[in-house]
Amino acid sequence: MKFNYIFVAVFLFIVSSCSSENEVSQETPKTSKVEQLIEHSKEFEKKVYSYDTPGGKIHIAVGFGIANSIMVEGIDGNIIIDSADSTFEASEIYSLFKLKNNNPIKAVIYTHNHGDHTFGTSFYLTTQEQRPKIIAHESTDFYMQRILGIIEPIITKRSTRMFGTTLPEGELINVGIGPSLNVSKSPIGYVKPDVTFDKELKINIAGINLELYHAPGETNDQLFVWLPDHLSLMPGDNIYKTFPNLYTIRGTTHRDVAGWVNSLDHMRSFNPQFLFPSHTKPLSGIAVMETLTIYRDAIQFVHDQTVRLMNKGLTP
Ligand SMILES: [Zn+2]
Repeated sequence: MKFNYIFVAVFLFIVSSCSSENEVSQETPKTSKVEQLIEHSKEFEKKVYSYDTPGGKIHIAVGFGIANSIMVEGIDGNIIIDSADSTFEASEIYSLFKLKNNNPIKAVIYTHNHGDHTFGTSFYLTTQEQRPKIIAHESTDFYMQRILGIIEPIITKRSTRMFGTTLPEGELINVGIGPSLNVSKSPIGYVKPDVTFDKELKINIAGINLELYHAPGETNDQLFVWLPDHLSLMPGDNIYKTFPNLYTIRGTTHRDVAGWVNSLDHMRSFNPQFLFPSHTKPLSGIAVMETLTIYRDAIQFVHDQTVRLMNKGLTP
């Protein structure tokens, strides 16, 4: 974190020293950082967005806990992509998804191992007559066991601090990628995946053609879902409406910044028309490719300029 922000500070200094005073003052935000953060809360208005794509209907729940949950409608069943940060939130989300389509949940896909995407899963096992398939990258369970086991005490302490979990009610504005972290509202509902893959998985579930691709970035086990018939992309946490967490304040392990750029390029190669991210609002139309391109360029810029300055001997 420090490393990247120091780099950004250096870059801003270079930019400001190359601009005239007039240009710099135009770039100065008119609102304070707190006001900007309050404005950003609009991104997390509690709501289910529904889209009619060429392949069928897709619903996305935003603002319930920290992460989104997505439901893709199939012929005789539906698929959930990311199960929310708790069974508490999953229960509220599913009560709204069911109003859209009441068919059984045939599969739950994890975009990666983080609890805000996986801790709601046991809710779907206890409410469905037939056990849904749990699908993830082959390394997801390894990383999950490490978080729940080996590094649990320190990661919990750091995450609690980073997400402002213990702040008095009303003092937390939002946590950047969501309104608040609600993992402690119910017991951990992570369920071990039973269908995993290495590089890619093409599978048909409930009449839905799914393509899953390993996409290292925000985590090493990250995947993205491409629905060719729906022209729809679920990028997991490799894109959301904040600057990418190339390094987290809570000090998680190394994030593959160059791999992140490659993963975004892989997504762009499909020319998606709908984007259903796991944090912040969905996008459609021309904004999808524009956003993917700006995002990958920003990450590559930080990476390349950091390496350039490292090669000059600069240190964090
Ligand atoms: Zn997340």
